[in-house]
Amino acid sequence: MDNESIWRAVLGEVELSLSRANFITWFKDTFISSFKDGKVTICIPNAFAKRWLEQKCHKQIKSALEHITGSKVSDINYKIEIRKHSDILIQKEKENNETIIETIIQEDVEKPKPINSHRSGLNPKYLFENFVVGKGNELAHAACRAVLKDLGKAYNPLFIYGGVGLGKTHLLQALGNEALKHTDKVLYITSENFTNHYIQAIQSGKAKEFKNRYRNVDILLIDDVQFMGGKDGTQEEFFHTFNQLKESNKQIVLTSDRPPQAIPAIEKRLISRFQSGMVADVGKLDVETKVAILQKIAKEKNFDINEEVLMYIADNIRNNIRELEGALNRVIVFNELNNTTPEVNSTKNILSDILTDIQLKSISAKDILEAVTRFYDITLRDLIGKSRKKELVAPRQIAIYLMREELRSSYPAIGNELGGRDHTTAMHGYNKVAKELKNNERLNQEIKSIKSSLQTR
Ligand code: ADP
Ligand code: MG
Repeated sequence: MDNESIWRAVLGEVELSLSRANFITWFKDTFISSFKDGKVTICIPNAFAKRWLEQKCHKQIKSALEHITGSKVSDINYKIEIRKHSDILIQKEKENNETIIETIIQEDVEKPKPINSHRSGLNPKYLFENFVVGKGNELAHAACRAVLKDLGKAYNPLFIYGGVGLGKTHLLQALGNEALKHTDKVLYITSENFTNHYIQAIQSGKAKEFKNRYRNVDILLIDDVQFMGGKDGTQEEFFHTFNQLKESNKQIVLTSDRPPQAIPAIEKRLISRFQSGMVADVGKLDVETKVAILQKIAKEKNFDINEEVLMYIADNIRNNIRELEGALNRVIVFNELNNTTPEVNSTKNILSDILTDIQLKSISAKDILEAVTRFYDITLRDLIGKSRKKELVAPRQIAIYLMREELRSSYPAIGNELGGRDHTTAMHGYNKVAKELKNNERLNQEIKSIKSSLQTR
């Protein structure tokens, strides 16, 4: 296995434990320049990132390297060096939700021809052809197809919502790429970029150009519209853009991580606009669909892998397809390196550490609240309500404790989940439970049971 594949696998591991922004900042354009007898040289384009990697990520990089290559790493040398040949230079595209990893992975696959990608903001790799339709996403997929048949008329707007990594961006972009076959006036943008663009336009006196750009399209695709929450100026502008497009039968498609009415700090009139067409959700995928997606990825990489192993991966990585891809890549790299055929047993080992990590991450605050209400047989309303009855206060504090422990949520965030309580209440609740756990066996048992009900959802 060459250095590039090894580094790619290392990045795949490291990415799981960092925020997207951090990951991109520190690992952009890094590579391994030599790897011999347990001695590795890692090149980093600037001193700033070098220092950070050395100080903050050394351990993690070392253990990932050892884990992936199956051999001991005795020395890592961090060096400032910019890669010369640009073909492997990784660049984050501005206007899409690419991750570095996806970009690297894409280098493996033959690149489709870029279609007008600069102007439309679309990434040509997201197509209907490589989107697997299954139980969780069939409604959203059908809605996209219907929209394409009768642009601006069938469902306008189409609003797609669902959890992270379930294919919303893929669908939205596939719709855009398909529409490009009929019109070049397609515009894809994340709501964050829309906001930034709007602010820049105002500051530089180019409000008119801004309006022209967004109101003169046949299809406007806005990704992750939930980020418009709290941005009043942008919402105002978007409201008018929306109305103008809709009045002239131009198609609008939006995605969000939650339904319109659940987006915080968004104007009522926008919510009602979002609801006025078709609202479709993408839900968790069933195992069969996940296996089909994995098969597709393995095939793209020309890698043979049996269904039993794919089943194991699909079964254990519950929700997020991005993580599913990451896990598969890891299995592929490991087996290529060791010249072995993937088996369930070795796969278990390869994935053991990320599995616990992912399971942890895929639990939401809502899951915890539900588990607690189930366990103590109380209603959610009571749990987050105002009553200070002992039989409600105790479960409330346990919910606080679990959110802190399992999700690493901040105290203000926990307070919020519990019906808008103050962060000091959350802090107090956590401390109380943590203290009591030291000598209350029954409480220990209860928390254990609730936790295990979370794992086996
Ligand atoms: P979201 O926008 O919902 O967070 P993405 O659209 O970015 O999720 O999907 C995450 C990754 O999973 C992408 O690489 C995407 O191509 C892939 N993916 C998601 N759903 C499917 C699917 N049904 N078929 C094939 N690939 C999928
Ligand atoms: Mg997305």
